[in-house]
Order: sequence, then C-alpha cells, then structure tokens
Amino acid sequence: ESVVYWMRMGDLRIKDNRALSLASAHAKKADVPLVVVFILSPQCYKAHDRAPRRIDFTLRNLALIKASLQKLHIPLRTITEPNRRVIPHQIISFLEHLNASAIYANIEYEVDELRRDIEISKAAREKDIDAIFTHDKCVVEPGVVLTKEKRAYSVYSPYQKAWLKTLNANIPHFLENYPEPHPNSESVHTMAKFGALFDSLVPESVVGFELDPADRAKMEQVWPAGETAANEILQRFLHTKSRSSQLAAVDPLAEGAEDSVKRSRISVYDAERDRADKDTTSRLSPYLAAGVISARACVRATMPDTKNTTKKVDGGRWVQEVAWRDFYVCILAGFPRVSMGRPFQEKYADIVWEGPVLEGAYTDNQQERLNPKAKLPLATAESHIEKWKTGWCRTGYPIVDAGMRCLNEMGWAYLHNRARMICAMFLVKHLMIDWRIGEKYFMEKLIDGDLASNNGGWQWCASTGVDACPYFRIFNPYSQSLKADPTGDFIRHFVPELAAVRGPDLHNPPPSVADKLGYPRAIVKHEDSRDRALRRFKNPGEA
Ligand code: FAD
Repeated sequence: ESVVYWMRMGDLRIKDNRALSLASAHAKKADVPLVVVFILSPQCYKAHDRAPRRIDFTLRNLALIKASLQKLHIPLRTITEPNRRVIPHQIISFLEHLNASAIYANIEYEVDELRRDIEISKAAREKDIDAIFTHDKCVVEPGVVLTKEKRAYSVYSPYQKAWLKTLNANIPHFLENYPEPHPNSESVHTMAKFGALFDSLVPESVVGFELDPADRAKMEQVWPAGETAANEILQRFLHTKSRSSQLAAVDPLAEGAEDSVKRSRISVYDAERDRADKDTTSRLSPYLAAGVISARACVRATMPDTKNTTKKVDGGRWVQEVAWRDFYVCILAGFPRVSMGRPFQEKYADIVWEGPVLEGAYTDNQQERLNPKAKLPLATAESHIEKWKTGWCRTGYPIVDAGMRCLNEMGWAYLHNRARMICAMFLVKHLMIDWRIGEKYFMEKLIDGDLASNNGGWQWCASTGVDACPYFRIFNPYSQSLKADPTGDFIRHFVPELAAVRGPDLHNPPPSVADKLGYPRAIVKHEDSRDRALRRFKNPGEA
C-alpha cells in the first residue's frame, strides 16, 4: 500500500505545502510509504503558453526537491506524458501500480485542470481510492471572501477590505504553517515497487521548451532555484538595504544600490514601488508563481509574532499586493470565461482590433482571424506587433522599448508592475492590438507567468476586466516614463542608443536628437491613438 502526493507546477516546495503535509500525515497514520509524483506535460505547457524559462525554473526546483525528499526516503517520480488527455488514465495506473489508497494534490484553478481533476476524482472513486484536492495557492482561498449577496467580488478595494477582515478573524487557520513530511521508513529504498522510483531522474529539459544555454545561465543567476533562495529573497526584501552581490553581474541597477536604498525595501515600498530605476519590490513573483514559497509564509513574515493570536496582519501596501494575487485567483475561479480567452466585461467582446485577433485562446485550437472592420493593412498592424514585441525594432517610445527589452532579456521587468502596465496599455490602446496577443507573448517570456495574474493584469490594462480601470484611462507613455524612471537609468540601460541623452528628452526624444542617434520616431502619435481608442471603446463593434 501507499499514499501519493501529486506535486504540480505551482507547489514546488516541501515546507508549508498543504497537500504534501496532509498526504504525509495520512501515510504516517496508515503506516505506509508516501510517494511523490510530478507529471511533465508539454501539451499543457503549449496550451498555456508557458515560457521555456518557467519550465526550466520548474525543473531546477524539482531537482532540488527530489534530493531533499530522498533524504527523507520519499521517492519523487517524474512522468513525461505527451498526450494531456491521457493524464487521468496515467495517474490512475500509477496509483494502481503502487496499490495507493489515497492521492492528494493542491488545486489548480484553470478550467482544463479542474476538469482533469474531476475526471480523476470519478475514476479514483471507482477504484476505491480517495482523491483529496486542497486549497493552497492563496492566503484566503476562492469562495470564502464573498459579497453580501454571496457572490465573488469583482472590484478590488472592497474585496481587499473583506479579505483582511476575514484573514484577521482567523489567523491560525489562514496562516497555518503546514508541517514538513515525515520520513518514510528506510526500507522503501529496497522494496521492489518503490526502489526504482528513487532512480528516476528529473529531466534537464522538456522537448519544445529547451532554453538557450546562455539564457539558462542568466536565469540561474538571477533566479536561483530552491526554498532557501526564495526565503533569502524574502528576507532581503524585509530587512536588508542593498542588493545581493549574486545579482551584480547581471543586474544593471546593482551598482550604487547600497547608497540608493537607505531603509529596508519593505519600508520604502509604498512610496517607491513604481520606480523602474530602483530596487524596491520583493522580486518574489517567480517563487510565488511556482510555489517555491507559500503566500502564507510571505504574509506571516510581515508579522512580528504569529504565535500570539492577538496580533493582526497590518494590511500594509505590500500585503495588499499579495491580496491582488488572491483576488485574481478568485476571479479565475469565479468567472472561468476569463481563462478561455473571453473578456470579463462581455460588452467589450466586439471591440475592433487592428491586425489579427486571437480566437479560442487556452484551447488546443488556437487560431487567428482578421477583424473585417480593421482599418490598417494587416502588414502594418503586424509590424507594429513585432516592434512592440522585440523592443529592438522599436516603437519610438523609450519607456516601452526599455520595458519590452527588459522582459525579453530578463524574463521579468525591473519596472515590475508599472512597466508591465505601461507596455501592455501601449499595445492595447495606442496600437489597438488585441490584448490576448500581448497576454500570450508575456506568458511566453515571463519566468513568473501565471494565468490568473497575467490575465488579470492584461484585462485591467485593456479595460475589459474587473476593477476600476475605465476605458478612458489611457496612460500617457511620456509622463508615465518621467514618473517611473526619473533618473533615466532604466531606459539608458535597456536602450543604449539613448545612453548619452539627459533630462526630459530621454523620455520623448525630439526628432533631431532621435535622428542623430539612430533612434526611430514614434510609430504612432499619442493623441491620435488616444482618440481612436476612446472612439472604439465607446462604441464596441465600430471602427
Ligand atoms: P511585489 O511588488 O513585491 O509584490 C509581491 C507579490 O504580490 C508579487 O510577487 C505577486 O505575487 C503579487 N502581486 C503584486 N502585484 C500584483 C498584481 N498587480 N497582480 C497580481 N499579483 C500581484 N504577476 C505574476 O505573478 N505573474 C504574471 O504573469 C503577471 N503578469 C502581469 C501582466 C500584466 C500586464 C500586469 C500589469 C501585471 C502582471 N503581474 C503578474 C502582476 C505584477 O506585475 C507582478 O506580480 C509583480 O511585478 C512582481 O514583482 P514583485 O515580485 O517584485 O512584486
């Protein structure tokens, strides 16, 4: 007999992992071994536009987890399954092979994954195997923070207030620190059925998601794998003032960082989190997205003493950002259409986009069609998309080019949330390109790519989503640039063509300066683009 824990892409840790902890307690009580399984599914990764960087990060973390589990005599088996439709069958066969009495897993909230788990639950029941799926991704799981009408919130501010109230009303429950797994008896190594599981290796790459070696080396340096690394990054954010030297070789902002941050990052976070030229955010998103650290652990770390139950979570700005993550997971769970390529606000389904429109996103049948009402020739719209994507062919907006090059080079924009917002809104509102094209491109590049947060961020920028970003809120890329990068260090690093430019010209190079330096003129005019976006959003379906 045995108990199985199915580790997924979003829970790559041993500490404070709810399903793993419960599976271990079950195995201990039943006095049977615990086995961990991980399914690698290139087809799922393709369907979700996973970045090779994210897959590589997964494998790097898995290799460390395998080694740690080995010390507890717990085998971790990775199975590569090319056909995602047969994963339920694969899992059931694996359970039968190990004579498992139960399988535990943390819930994945994407529609395809929920359907898969329902299928597995039914099949397991027929075989008399318990299938237990637990909430773990969020601090407060979906379905708990609801409006008076018992519906999911679709506006963040009231959600965040209710979230904090709910959390503070039962801190021991929501911030529980789940114990690490108990070791298996050493004899599992030698048991015929289990021994072979110890020998299976975590692959170095997944076909179709191989990472270029230079990129891999850079990612390893910027985003080291493992729970210890994640915790160090959290501690660095909470307590230290300077950047870790490990990042210095690849981090353009490392030099002089010692002087630039006088207080701990979390204490300047509220005032400086939007600064592209400073290092003031946590940089934990890749670790949170992959579950290398739990969101609970992040919130707990902001509290002085979690044992004292009279202490409350203060709901400071950083904790509020962690609540945004919960919020978008609740949107995904409560309004599954957003994970099927549909706008949250259905009234914007007919907006006239230029260039191709992505249809059937998140299914196996992704296809593009051309909007018959589009005004620009397809080739022009496509060249706009390419210029935006690469940042090297250039939009002529330095902050957008810098953000996109940063995304391409680093897998994460230093300008963090603000950079993503500026780049995303430029694509959607200035170039009038379908937000799903940008959403897909971000997912393909981001090391922290996460459907709920990425979709939430894109739909917010496109004004098709939840919360209060009305369609007439259109960022002016020049003034945003001045606010986000007042020293110009961010732009100068990523757009070296403009390295010699000082002052406001850097953010909006006059034609004479741009021409002299070989920097292109803006591909669209801010005012004209703004007018077009306002017109089309006001009258969906009309060009
Ligand atoms: P911090 O500012 O230190 O925040 C701490 C944590 O809170 C983050 O690590 C993250 O988990 C969460 N968080 C912060 N802001 C947000 C937010 N607006 N929405 C949801 N969670 C948030 N985040 C992702 O994790 N994955 C994505 O794929 C992703 N795509 C995005 C796409 C767009 C267009 C936009 C506008 C935002 C996107 N975000 C995404 C949200 C946000 O930009 C990143 O979480 C943040 O930049 C990560 O940097 P950090 O870890 O230093 O964050």
